[in-house]
Amino acid sequence: MSQRKVVGIDLGTTFSAIAHIDAYGKPQIIPNTETERITPSVIFFDDSHVIVGSVAKNNAVAEPEKIVDFVKREMGKPKDQFHREFGGKIYSAEELSALIIKKLKADAEKYLDQPITDAVITVPAYFNDAERTATITAGQLAGLNVLQIINEPTAAALAYGLDKLDENQTVFVFDLGGGTFDVTIMRIVDHKIEMLATNGDHRLGGKDWDDVIVNLIAEEFDRLHGENPLLDLHSYQELHNRALAAKIQLSSRNNTIIVYHHGGKSVKLTLTRKEFEKRTRHLVEKCKTICEMVMQEAKLKWDKIDKVLLAGGMTRMPMIRAMISGLSAVPQVDQVNPDEVVSRGAAIQGILSILNEEDISGEKTVDDSLRQQFSALDGGLIEVTDITSHTLGVVLWDQRQLQEYVFPMIPKMTPIPAVIRNSFGTADANMQRAVVKVVEGESTVPGECTPLGVCDIQLPPYLPKGSPVKLTYQYNANQVLEVEVQAAGNNAKVTIDRNTGLAPQEIEQAASGLGELQVS
Ligand code: AMP
Repeated sequence: MSQRKVVGIDLGTTFSAIAHIDAYGKPQIIPNTETERITPSVIFFDDSHVIVGSVAKNNAVAEPEKIVDFVKREMGKPKDQFHREFGGKIYSAEELSALIIKKLKADAEKYLDQPITDAVITVPAYFNDAERTATITAGQLAGLNVLQIINEPTAAALAYGLDKLDENQTVFVFDLGGGTFDVTIMRIVDHKIEMLATNGDHRLGGKDWDDVIVNLIAEEFDRLHGENPLLDLHSYQELHNRALAAKIQLSSRNNTIIVYHHGGKSVKLTLTRKEFEKRTRHLVEKCKTICEMVMQEAKLKWDKIDKVLLAGGMTRMPMIRAMISGLSAVPQVDQVNPDEVVSRGAAIQGILSILNEEDISGEKTVDDSLRQQFSALDGGLIEVTDITSHTLGVVLWDQRQLQEYVFPMIPKMTPIPAVIRNSFGTADANMQRAVVKVVEGESTVPGECTPLGVCDIQLPPYLPKGSPVKLTYQYNANQVLEVEVQAAGNNAKVTIDRNTGLAPQEIEQAASGLGELQVS
């Protein structure tokens, strides 16, 4: 039996975590070499050496120019839109994320004293095709076989739901992390977990609350000393640390004193929880609106929700809990540590994926005792059904309006994996080629959607107008899309040509480049 070891990785904006399934079938966090259960997603470039985690974070104030953080917000961007240069080498968002994963993997291998081969990595439910593809690439660059990409709220739901499968219930998962916000409604029915609706904002998270305090301190400093400390990168890091500490204190205290020094001058101010809540009300309102939207999408009233599951460090804030209480009076569950629940859920999905693979290949790679732990009442494996977070469409020509519009091929909230086929007629007689523009988004106006790529297929001559062009959209469990176009005997399979991220040949090059780097 060839041994495989799978982990679940929560690749977070501010912190990352890694978990595995222990010999008793329980998901466990794997601490890093600094003995911490979560690792700051901060990278420090020190000549030929790369340091990830707390040591890197602690260096942020002294040498901010050698630091990269918040990489997750840049995932999916091509190198010309986002990159960082250190020691003459240019790093893409995928490569930087790969360095964080490398650190998690190396520390876990040391802790478990065995090689790690496979991983499930989590992403915000609202991540799009490019962001998901970039996350898979990051895992591969770090030397892992990425079994699956799953949504963070799905992972949280899985970690929570695993030992509650006996109770049929509808759970609202509220996940507010350092940089992203996700809400998902899930239903546990007859030992199966189904996602009903999902929504979010991947640019809303703890950092936005921190920045409110950063600006407050900077304004006060400017008022007293006539100088804006934000104009200096060193000061921003220092200010951000002060703001973060103040925010966390205000979760348990009614006020906090902030002292900040810069260029030999200082400022001292008291911030009350009430004042902080007033200044961040717009952020809480944003969260509330998204919660209401997802309920509408699921066509549910709040009285149909049995529990609210809290995930993400920001749900420790009383203003967030109060807002949720205002929406629903049901119990808020947080006995699962919000910083750890996502990676633990990913580890569960990891074992489920491997067991599924075993069922198909017939090859045994994990102990039999584990299979029992992850089986439903009927003896089959526990099933988790996720749904699409975005509509995937194709741009078509409207003959009557004489303009382009988006036809939804796979509507938002379709259970996945999904395969959808449709046939369209050519717009004119004797068309030379069919150009299929693939887009993602909820609008019917092409300009309001995100272009994913183009499929271009040559047509035989003299085809009459209205000749069928058949499209197949295949959305796999990772929520990554493959498109196939067939037209008039040209049964060519065309994979969409993505205009983002690293190309396949670039991935190989990047992997060997990263292999030479020492990461600790
Ligand atoms: P996550 O990405 O889930 O690890 O969430 C991290 C975010 O939660 C960061 O913005 C932290 O500053 C924030 N956070 C963690 N603990 C607390 C707390 N006690 N009060 C307020 N925010 C917190």
